[in-house]
Amino acid sequence: MKIAVYSAKSYDIEYLDHANDSFGYDLEYFEVPLSQKTVGLASGADAACAFVNDKLNRETLKALSDIGIGLVALRCAGFNNVDLEAAHDYGIRVMRVPAYSPHAVAEHAVALILTLNRKTHKAYNRVRDANFSLERFVGFDLEKKTVGLIGTGKIGQVFARIMQGFNCNIIAYDPFPSKDLADTGVDYLPIDKVFKNSDIISLHCPLTPETHQVVNKNTLRIMKPGAMLINTSRGKLINTEDAIEALKEKQLGYLGIDVYAEEEKLFFRDLSEHIIDDEKIMQLMTFPNVLITAHQAFLTREALNEIAETTLENISVYAKEAKSENEVTRDMIA
Ligand code: NAD
Repeated sequence: MKIAVYSAKSYDIEYLDHANDSFGYDLEYFEVPLSQKTVGLASGADAACAFVNDKLNRETLKALSDIGIGLVALRCAGFNNVDLEAAHDYGIRVMRVPAYSPHAVAEHAVALILTLNRKTHKAYNRVRDANFSLERFVGFDLEKKTVGLIGTGKIGQVFARIMQGFNCNIIAYDPFPSKDLADTGVDYLPIDKVFKNSDIISLHCPLTPETHQVVNKNTLRIMKPGAMLINTSRGKLINTEDAIEALKEKQLGYLGIDVYAEEEKLFFRDLSEHIIDDEKIMQLMTFPNVLITAHQAFLTREALNEIAETTLENISVYAKEAKSENEVTRDMIA
């Protein structure tokens, strides 16, 4: 089996090559993302392996089907970037890695909270410059603060348990509440009440038509003045313009994001010598109370190992024409 691996970075290659020792596939790596323009690179391959920002729209899927690709193996959990209706129409199976390390993402969300609150990123630079002043570094105790979760699946549950360790009060909204989590004292509330009562809101739901811009001027308006918003899920869960307005009005006290609505033009590349043609991210980067990381929440050794193993296992299941729990279909969206 020959696999065209798109959006391949050094860490993907290292972990896939290692996992492939026991599979023996012919892996061909391309640094470019998968899109209609780059489909041709997969000529002669049986499967295309893609990541979060690869554009698997109808045109790309048709072109993949035209060159005989029967499987898209996603190296991620989210599948909002794949037109599953089109994949069905062109007979392409789509598999994902549903859980690689919920700890990696949940712990990164906590890192964003602690950094924004205690300003360790600024302290590091100040001390290196022999500036030992503590001016403007006042934070707050997490103890007894109310943390609101939107989505309590695998990542949300790990995140909730970490925040319980800080003795925070956890409230949550999820259309499918977890009984296990409720038993630990997490209070499930209607979504408006979660926005209204939280000192910190953390988003852990998938991007769907229902959750698209779940953070917008209406939900930002009902949040506690000065609250913190953390997003490690998907950029389009937030209406960026509304978040910028709320930051300017000081209604939103802090914003920590690992994902950004327009990230596919920016993230996973070194653009340090380029002019960034995205006014919104440039504006966000000027706010002292905004912390942006470039979709790195998943990036731990454990997660990369699991991603590589599961991706190659998914390919074996496809080769055997067997069923897989990791397959995503258009019915899942419905
Ligand atoms: P999961 O499927 O285990 O959990 C998602 C939860 O969201 C489920 O409990 C579901 O019921 C809930 N949900 C669905 N619709 C909702 C709605 N309208 N409102 C509130 N909750 C809703 O997924 P997970 O493994 O916990 O991952 C969550 C998300 O994290 C993924 O969809 C992905 O977008 C993101 N993610 C980001 C990174 C990263 O590196 N930043 C890595 C992995 C996953």
